[in-house]
Amino acid sequence: MTIINKESSVLTLIEQFGHEQVVYCYDKDSGLRAIIAIHSTVLGPSLGGTRMWKYNNDSEALTDVLRLSHGMTYKASITGLNLGGGKAVIIGDSKKDKTEALFRKFGQFVDRLGGKYITAEDVGTSTADMVHVSKETKFVTGLPENMGGGGDPSPLTAYGVYMGMKASAKFVWKDDSLEGKRVVVQGIGHVGEHLVQLLHNEKADIVITDINSENVKRISEQYKTAVINPDEVYTQKMDIYAPCALGATLNDTTIPMLQCKIVAGCANNQLEDQQIHGTQLVEKGIIYAPDFLINAGGLISVYGELNGWNKDQAVDRASKIYDTTLDILKLSEEKKIASYLAANQIAEERILQRKRDTEAVS
Ligand code: NAD
Repeated sequence: MTIINKESSVLTLIEQFGHEQVVYCYDKDSGLRAIIAIHSTVLGPSLGGTRMWKYNNDSEALTDVLRLSHGMTYKASITGLNLGGGKAVIIGDSKKDKTEALFRKFGQFVDRLGGKYITAEDVGTSTADMVHVSKETKFVTGLPENMGGGGDPSPLTAYGVYMGMKASAKFVWKDDSLEGKRVVVQGIGHVGEHLVQLLHNEKADIVITDINSENVKRISEQYKTAVINPDEVYTQKMDIYAPCALGATLNDTTIPMLQCKIVAGCANNQLEDQQIHGTQLVEKGIIYAPDFLINAGGLISVYGELNGWNKDQAVDRASKIYDTTLDILKLSEEKKIASYLAANQIAEERILQRKRDTEAVS
C-alpha cells in the first residue's frame, strides 16, 4: 500500500508539470544517480544543462529537474528557437564525486534517448565534464572552443540581458539610452561582469555588489563603479535593479523595499512565486523584464553551436531579445497582466500553433 502511494505521488508530480518522459539513470559501479526530464519536444529536441547538486533528498532532486526542464520549454519557445525543454540532474557533490566514468555512463544514458534530449553544462558541471560525456554521445553541446564548441555562453547571456534592459528603458522612458541611469548589479560573476562592461561602455551610473570581495575590488577599480554591501541592495535608490546572482530575490520581504523603475537581470527564477510576486511588482509600478526571456543568450549560444552558426549569427539572434521584450511589455500593458504572464502566453501559443500545424499535416 505504501509503495503504491509513493509511486502515485511521483507520477502525479510528473503529470502536473506535463512532462513527456522522465528517466532515472543508475549505475552502481560509477555511483551515477541521475534524472533526465524531457518536458516537451513539440518545437524540437529538448535541450538543457546537467546540474550536479548535493540534494537533501531524492524528491528535492526530482522537483528541481521537473521545474527546470519545464522552464526550458518556455525559454526556448519565447526565444523563437526550434528546441524543446529538458534538463538533467546528477545527485552528488560536484567537489568530490566527479569522475570520468560517471560522466561517460551518464553520456550513455543520454545517447539511448536517441536525440530527444541534448545536454550541456550547468551549475556544478563544466565544459570539461561535457568532454567526457561527448565520448559516449553526440547529443551534447556547450563544448570548449578548441573542440568546435561555442565556449563560455556568459558574454552572450550578458548581451541579451543588456538588450532586455534597453528595451525596458525604452518602454519606461521612451528612450533606450542607459547613460546616467543608476543600475545596481547584484552579483558580478561570469554574466554580471560582462554586463558591467556593457553598461560602462554606455556611461551608466553603475553600482555593484557581491559576496566575493576580491571580485568587487577588481571590477570596481577597472570600471570605476560604486560599491554597496550585499544587504543594502533592496533599500538603494536606483533606476534599474539587475539581479545577477541568486533566484527568488523578488519576494514578500524585498518588493516592499524596492526603489527602482525596472528589474532586468540574468538570475534564473527571480520571482519567488510567479503569480504573487509578478503581481506585486505590477502594483508597485515596477517594470519586470521576464528572466527566462532576457537571459536566453546562453541557450542561443548552444543552439548556434548545434546549428553551425558563427558568432555574428548568435549575436544577431540575441539582439532580437530587445524587440521581444518590448512586445511583451506592451502586451502586458494592453492586457493589464503581469509581464511574466504575457511572456508565458506567447510561449504557450507558439507551442500550440506547432501542435496544430503538425496535426494538420499528419
Ligand atoms: P556566477 O556563479 O559566475 O556568478 C554569481 C555571482 O553572484 C558570484 O560572483 C557570487 O559571489 C555572487 N553572489 C552569490 N550570492 C550573492 C549575494 N547574496 N549577493 C551578491 N552576490 C552574490 O554565475 P553566473 O554564470 O554569472 O550566473 C548568474 C545567474 O544567472 C545564475 O542565477 C545563473 O543560473 C543565471 N544564468 C546564467 C547564464 C550563463 O550563461 N552563465 C545563463 C542563464 C542564466
